[in-house]
Amino acid sequence: AAKAAGRGKHIFYEPSMHSEAAERQQLENELRQAIERGELSVHYQPIVRTAGEEISGFEALVRWQHPTRGAISPAKFVPLAEEAGLIGKIGEWVLATSLEEASHWPDHVRVAVNLSPLQFNDPGVVAMVAEHLETSGVRPDRLELEITEGVFLADGDSTDDTFAKLKKLGVRLSLDDFGTGYSSLGYLKKAPFDKIKIDQSFVRGAASTSSTNRNAAIIRAIVTLAETLGMDTCAEGVETHDDLQLIRELGVSMVQGYIFGRPADGEITRRLANTVTVEADGYQCIREPRH
Ligand code: C2E
Ligand code: MG
Ligand code: MG
Ligand code: MG
Repeated sequence: AAKAAGRGKHIFYEPSMHSEAAERQQLENELRQAIERGELSVHYQPIVRTAGEEISGFEALVRWQHPTRGAISPAKFVPLAEEAGLIGKIGEWVLATSLEEASHWPDHVRVAVNLSPLQFNDPGVVAMVAEHLETSGVRPDRLELEITEGVFLADGDSTDDTFAKLKKLGVRLSLDDFGTGYSSLGYLKKAPFDKIKIDQSFVRGAASTSSTNRNAAIIRAIVTLAETLGMDTCAEGVETHDDLQLIRELGVSMVQGYIFGRPADGEITRRLANTVTVEADGYQCIREPRH
């Protein structure tokens, strides 16, 4: 840059320096307008009870269809939204959209919505959740909020307070991606979770017979822990019959994974929500709607 400036040219950086920071800024600006432009949507993935293969509910997963870049993964833009101060608005939009959609599902089908630690630690979070429950008419015990271990990095007292208020509101709480974060067991002692979601990294390939595979042992330990504490378990990322069978044998109470269905749009999900069971490998086994 100095050399270029020295030659009196209006070049302040090399093309390679341009890329990352500027591209990030550009993406952030576009994300800021994504809701108004109708580029965000919510897809829903079935969560199935291991016994009986009944649909327990669906997890709401945000999608961003960028006009020129195509689909951008939430694994990329959710962290960006968090850093740019946009996650509150996006997260609230996802919650409102999902609850409205769930109001068209049978009464026993739950909706699970991810809550960023930044949303959870916002002082207005309980009122925000209560407001959207009220607007949608969805019973509080049908809403499951998925929270990661990241929430425990914040001030302990206000975190405890928020947990207590959300429980009082009657919503269910899930600990998402269990085993990948700080994995301190201290918070399992005090936070009133209803469910532990076992992270995909322990689930995928768990049935492999390789002698170095410790996943089954870890899953077994998590199940024992959860049962002792009176919590449900859900295995994320089940793709194969072998893994599904192992998950069953280990006593995991729920399964979420491509074997039962990929995230699908609201319209497809509405139809599926009205079926009693699905079978491994998908949608060809959709039952007639219940009346
Ligand atoms: P998550 O909450 O752990 O969601 C599960 C992710 O695993 C989803 O990815 C889902 O599509 C994927 N998945 C489920 N079953 C399988 C499987 O059998 N195989 C494979 N390979 N993947 C499977 P997705 O939709 O890309 O979301 C990624 C992450 O982005 C989520 O992980 C969550 O942390 C975040 N996210 C998504 N939507 C929201 C949202 O509305 N708010 C917030 N705060 N975060 C969100
Ligand atoms: Mg989740
Ligand atoms: Mg997860
Ligand atoms: Mg995850």
